[in-house]
Amino acid sequence: MRAPTITDALHARRLLADHLPPTPMWSYPALDAAVGATVLVKHENVQPTGAFKVRGGLTLLAGMSPQERARGIVGYSTGNHAQSLAYAAARLGAPCVIVMPAAPNPAKAAAVRALGAELVEHGADMTEAAGHAADLARARGMRLISAGDEPALVAGVATAYLEMFEQAPGLDTVVVPVGGGSGAAAACLAAAAVAPHCRVVAVQAAASPAAHDSWRAGELLTRPNRTRVEGLATGCAFALTQGLMREHLADFLLVTDEQIADAQWRMMRDVHTLAEGAGATALAAVLTHRDRIPGRTIGVMCSGGNAAERELRACVTAPAVPAAEAVAS
Ligand SMILES: *Cc1c(COP(=O)(O)O)cnc(C)c1O
Repeated sequence: MRAPTITDALHARRLLADHLPPTPMWSYPALDAAVGATVLVKHENVQPTGAFKVRGGLTLLAGMSPQERARGIVGYSTGNHAQSLAYAAARLGAPCVIVMPAAPNPAKAAAVRALGAELVEHGADMTEAAGHAADLARARGMRLISAGDEPALVAGVATAYLEMFEQAPGLDTVVVPVGGGSGAAAACLAAAAVAPHCRVVAVQAAASPAAHDSWRAGELLTRPNRTRVEGLATGCAFALTQGLMREHLADFLLVTDEQIADAQWRMMRDVHTLAEGAGATALAAVLTHRDRIPGRTIGVMCSGGNAAERELRACVTAPAVPAAEAVAS
């Protein structure tokens, strides 16, 4: 497997120009005061599927040959990856099968079906669903899409970071939430090429630390996977994304699910935006580990907004988070 390059990301940017306008990036006074720096929030939660992953899905589908596209794709995911593939397949006229473990969250299943994909329920967990997806792909002659080791997904996602550096060339640090690591790998790729002065800092849920522990150890590890934050629930590390992170990542932090929930509420109150847990994780790291995130101008990736209803209700009824008390820095 060839690692994606900045040239692949530039190609992806041309492809995506026909499909997705740039997403906004703003700072908010209450948040700046709470952090003691300018915090620029990149709003990938306003993408048509509600998450940054659609950039990768569209890039992958657009890069397939017409014959391969006509045969279609098979993916396995319960979350934003599934919606990204289904959206891109519909947009580019490819058949799409998504395999989810049996009895999936009805809202997520409905979202994938509404995008026109065929939903197959199989197995007790994601490992069994992945095995079934591989069988289906073989039987039907369709392309199997890996969960983490897909160069086109990383190249596509890198366009979000090219956009950030264009919108704010002076960013000192950019903070990225991590599950499988395609986002952080993409940030590393873009920063190394166009903003080498900018530190890329990754953040993972402490309850699912496989990518964090693998990056620190310098080898691919599996770890317990207990976070409630869906976009970050990954139990293993991937060679492709770890390789890119090894080259350019400045630091890797952990936050608890509670810190993520607090940041999710702050997103609603201070940023006036709906973030799912994973989408508030970069902000959680900035609020929790201010000492480890240096600089006057900090980019925060708000990666998605597909929060479940019970998650939103829990945020709203949780004890209040202190409002903007200025932090000395
Ligand atoms: C998938 C996802 C992440 C994690 O991204 P990786 O590329 O898997 O590291 C973060 N936030 C949201 C909203 C996601 O959907």
